[in-house]
Amino acid sequence: MTEKSTRLIHHPYRPPAGFESPQVAVHKASTIVFPSVAAIRQRDWIHKQGYTYGLHGTPTTFTLEERIATLEGGRHCILVPSGLASVAHVGLSLLKTGDDVLLPENVYGPSKALAQGELANFGITHQFYDPMDPADLAARIGPRTRLVWLEAPGSVSMEFPPLVALARLCRERGVTSALDTTWPAGIAFNAFELAPGVGVDVVAQALTKYPSGGGDVLMGAVVVRDDALHERLQRTHMRLGWGVSGNDAELVLRSLPSMALRYRAADHSARAIASWLGQREEIAQVLHPAFPGSPGHENWLEVCGADGQAAGLFSVLFDGRYTQAQVDRFCESLQLFKLGYSWASHLSLVVPYEMRTLRRHWEPAGGLVRFSIGLEDTDDLIADLDQALKALG
Ligand SMILES: *Cc1c(COP(=O)(O)O)cnc(C)c1O
Repeated sequence: MTEKSTRLIHHPYRPPAGFESPQVAVHKASTIVFPSVAAIRQRDWIHKQGYTYGLHGTPTTFTLEERIATLEGGRHCILVPSGLASVAHVGLSLLKTGDDVLLPENVYGPSKALAQGELANFGITHQFYDPMDPADLAARIGPRTRLVWLEAPGSVSMEFPPLVALARLCRERGVTSALDTTWPAGIAFNAFELAPGVGVDVVAQALTKYPSGGGDVLMGAVVVRDDALHERLQRTHMRLGWGVSGNDAELVLRSLPSMALRYRAADHSARAIASWLGQREEIAQVLHPAFPGSPGHENWLEVCGADGQAAGLFSVLFDGRYTQAQVDRFCESLQLFKLGYSWASHLSLVVPYEMRTLRRHWEPAGGLVRFSIGLEDTDDLIADLDQALKALG
């Protein structure tokens, strides 16, 4: 080996073994080098016993998968490139032509679009059920029902469904249940043990939200307890070619140790701010599942407990005397709260929603605004809301 180009590629130096530091190393790979032909022939990408190709995992992604499985109270985790991809992955793994999937009427919008788009194109039908009424779900479960999605609370409208009753029903009827756990985040409740003997089969979480917490990473996770179910999900994962970058996995690993503290801090601040808003005459209703009087509060109590936690996310309904233009102006008058989708980062966010574009059966008198509370000082955020409410006119 004389040419420098070759020597730079096939360099003999190996750093000393035994390095340890507080953070997990970033391993990046498409190619993974095998020690022998026998090792190539014996490769096993499904049991996480070794390394075969970048798509099938590196020490960095395996480590993150194990930690997210622990966070959710599950046994197996698969990482995908976004929260929406985790929802898509469950459907693409478990459904086939002729199957029917049931979605709550208030489901995360893009999940609805996936069912109406690609799943429908594949000959997979769907129905929307009333998430607050287990009898409605029971009536819709039929011989073709293969998957029931659950979400708690509902995106934007924040009503908390009777999760225990819904999950129990799925179990009794032998239908696989999947819960979008982006809001509980593995902290507010354990989706696999909602009540003694009652839990869901699959959880999908947008790691984009609390696990990342930075507003700068997109990632999702699918977690299960059952080995056979995991293997089905993993085989589809391999065939679809989803992968996450080592750098992104490292960012989430770096944020995980502070996640419980951030979740609690955002929860405290959000409740203080929501209480303050609830006292204002401009606001008709606060939609926060931990608040008595908010839709499904008793269901939140059932799974989270009286001292339970909640994400730093809530919505308010403005009094009907304010036009949408006024509500929009309120949102734009905010200085610390920024206008933007997603949530659970350090930055507080606000989005005005037009409910008639989201729901069939719900048209509140006043405009709905959703807040994601970040890590700014609570009093500063309240002062910002105060000045923007004054700008309502
Ligand atoms: C944000 C979100 C998702 C999707 O996550 P992305 O990483 O943005 O694709 C899915 N479900 C819920 C409830 C969410 O809030």
